Amino acid sequence: MKRFVLPLLLVGASSAIAQDSETGRWKVGSARVPITPERPVVLLGYGERTRPFDSVAQEIYAKALALEDGAGHRAVIVTADLVGFQAAVVTDLVSARIAKETSLGRSQLLFNASHSHTAPLVSLDPWLDANVVAHAPLSSDDRKETIAYTRALQDKLVALVRNAVAALQPAHLSWGRGEVPFPMSRRLPRDGRITMADNPARSVDRSVPVLCARTPDGERLALLFGTACHNATLTGADNLVSGDFAGFAQSYLEERFPGAQAMFMSGCGADANPSPRGSMALAQRHGASLGREVARIVEEPLTTVDGILSTKYEMVELPLQSLSKADIQGRAKLPSAEAVMARHMLRVLATGQTLPRNYSAPVALWQFGEAFSLVALPGEPVAEYVHLIEAALPKRPLWIAGYNNDCFGYLPTAQVVSEGGHENIGVTLWIWGQNLRRNVGFFAPSVERAIVRSVVRLAGR
Ligand SMILES: [Zn+2]
Repeated sequence: MKRFVLPLLLVGASSAIAQDSETGRWKVGSARVPITPERPVVLLGYGERTRPFDSVAQEIYAKALALEDGAGHRAVIVTADLVGFQAAVVTDLVSARIAKETSLGRSQLLFNASHSHTAPLVSLDPWLDANVVAHAPLSSDDRKETIAYTRALQDKLVALVRNAVAALQPAHLSWGRGEVPFPMSRRLPRDGRITMADNPARSVDRSVPVLCARTPDGERLALLFGTACHNATLTGADNLVSGDFAGFAQSYLEERFPGAQAMFMSGCGADANPSPRGSMALAQRHGASLGREVARIVEEPLTTVDGILSTKYEMVELPLQSLSKADIQGRAKLPSAEAVMARHMLRVLATGQTLPRNYSAPVALWQFGEAFSLVALPGEPVAEYVHLIEAALPKRPLWIAGYNNDCFGYLPTAQVVSEGGHENIGVTLWIWGQNLRRNVGFFAPSVERAIVRSVVRLAGR
C-alpha cells in the first residue's frame, strides 16, 4: 500500500488555510445493500432459537462509507446489522476479492458489526456445530440456507465497497461526541462469582462518537456513530429479524436527515447491556434515545477533520492459557459460562488434537489527520479497554471501537480473566457456527498487554 507523507495542518487558527490546501479536501461516498434474509435461515445470538426466524420486524442492511483524503489515500468502513464479522468466513475472503477489484489493501478496509442478536447466523461450515449454535442440531436444509445466505452476503459486500468508492464526491468531514444513558454493566458479583445482571456500580463506556460528512453546500451525506453496548434489547424469545436499538437509531436518523446515510459502529460493549431490556418497545426507545443524541451532536458545532488519513493494520498473537487436562476438567464442572468452553476444549482433546497457545487477531488504527484516532479492536472488547487505551495514549482524541474485522468471541482484560464470568469464555468461534475446533481456549491475562501494546505501536508508527 502506498503511503503519502505530507505535513499535517493544525485545526483552529490554520483551518482556513487547511480548507484551501490539498490536505483539507475530502471525498466521501456512501452505499447500502439490504441483507434481510429472503429465505428461512436461523439467527445467531441466543441458543434457544432452534428454527428459522418467524418474521421480519425491521429491514437489516450493510452500509459502506468510502473516504479519500486530499492526497488521494482511500479507505472504506463497512458496517452491518449482523452479530459479527469473522475473518475466516467473511472479512478475509471479501477483502481479498476487493483488493483484486479496487486496489484497496487490507488496512484500507474496516468491517464493524452492530452485534444485533436478531440477525442471521453467518457461516460456511457445512457441519455448523449445531449443538452450540442452538440447542438442537440444524437440519440439513437449514445448513444449506445458512451457507447460501453467507455466500450471497460476501458478494453483496464486494459490490457494496465498489459502489461506495464509485460514489466518492467532495465533502467536508467533522466529528464530535455525546453520551447515552442506557448502556449498563452486566457483570454483577454475587455469591463469590460474576453473574450477568445490571451493575450500576461498575463503569461502562457511554460515549457516542460521531463522524459527519457534508457536501460543500452543507447537506449531510453520512453520519457514522458509535455506542459501546450489546445490541441485544431483544431476547431469545424474539425469533425475528431486526437491527435492534442500533437499527432503530439508524432509521431514526435517516428519517430526520433525508439523504444522509446513518451507520452504526459498535464500541467496547462486551460487558454492557441496554437497560432496561426485553421488548421491541424498549429496543425502539433506546434507538430513539441514541438517534436523538446523534442528531443533537451534529446540529451543534463540530470539530473539522483536516489532514491525512492513514490506515494501519496488524495481526497480533493473543495469548491463551496453558491448562492441563485436569484443570480443564475442573473448569468443566464450574457453575458458570466457562464450563461450556471447558467442555468444548475436552471435546477437542478427545479427537487427538492439541490446544492452541495463541489466537491471531487483527488490530487496526486509522488516523484522521490530527482530529482523532479510530482504534479498531477485534472481538468483543470489554469496556475497561477504553480506560486502558486512553491511559496509554494520553491527550490524544480517540474513537475506540470493538467488533471489527474478526469477531472470535469476547476480548477480556486481565481483571475480567481473574474474575471469570461470561466475558471470560475465550475463543468461541464454535458458538458462531464454525467448526474450527483448533480455535478454542481461555485468554491469558497478558491478552490485555498484547492488545494495548499493539494499539500504542500502531499509534506511534
Ligand atoms: Zn456479545
